[in-house]
Amino acid sequence: MKLMSLNETVRERIIKVLRDSLEPLTVEDIVAILGLTDLKPRDMYEHLKHIAKSVRAKGHEVLVMIPPSCRSCGFTFTNLDKPKKPSKCPKCKSERIAPPAFKIISRDQV
Ligand SMILES: [Zn+2]
Repeated sequence: MKLMSLNETVRERIIKVLRDSLEPLTVEDIVAILGLTDLKPRDMYEHLKHIAKSVRAKGHEVLVMIPPSCRSCGFTFTNLDKPKKPSKCPKCKSERIAPPAFKIISRDQV
């Protein structure tokens, strides 16, 4: 019970940061802004997955993702079904992947 309310608080803080930021933010950016240094990137992507659902359910906002891309060949991961950072480029096998970036925007802006 306690853990759940803690999670909710973290999500609310992430939502606020994603809403207020002018630029799309990577998971690393969000961790740095909120000082959540003990939160693993995998957990942050899990939070983002739930945040995407909850803002969509409320109706007037949407979580948008700038897809990750390969820094070596420019390949863009446009076919992701959930927020994550791929480990390897399917085209050139490079592991130099630019992480996805996120922002919450009003539906009027879509
Ligand atoms: Zn590549």
